[in-house]
Amino acid sequence: MATEHEIYLGYSTDKAVTPFFKQFLESLEKNKLMKGVCPKCKKEYLPPRQYCQKDLTECQLVEFTEREAKLYSFVIVDFAPESMASRAPYVVAIGEFPSGRRLTAHITNLTSEPQVGMKLKLGFERVSDKMVTYKWQV
Ligand SMILES: [Zn+2]
Repeated sequence: MATEHEIYLGYSTDKAVTPFFKQFLESLEKNKLMKGVCPKCKKEYLPPRQYCQKDLTECQLVEFTEREAKLYSFVIVDFAPESMASRAPYVVAIGEFPSGRRLTAHITNLTSEPQVGMKLKLGFERVSDKMVTYKWQV
């Protein structure tokens, strides 16, 4: 059987989740983005990781409140995997917040070619009854 490669588009809410991930999803539904913070070494993860990569300590979820960012980099996907073909071409973008933290998400409402440095705003979307995500908007 062929392996299915699906690009990341959102968080499926019906998959078996840990309490940590469940809390992250419930926050997304309330238009809140959570970052993970390691209580031991203070390293931050966005999107959050349950366990710190440096010391494997369980991270705590803390609300990430920045909403405005600038387009740092992007790719336009013309040749999409089958599951995303109906959405192609689409844009996957890295936005940089004033704090310097970066986040990867789709830009969903472009009306023209994206430009590095353009303003982005973080938005939230319930894609379906089982899928919730965050996205960039111009
Ligand atoms: Zn740590």
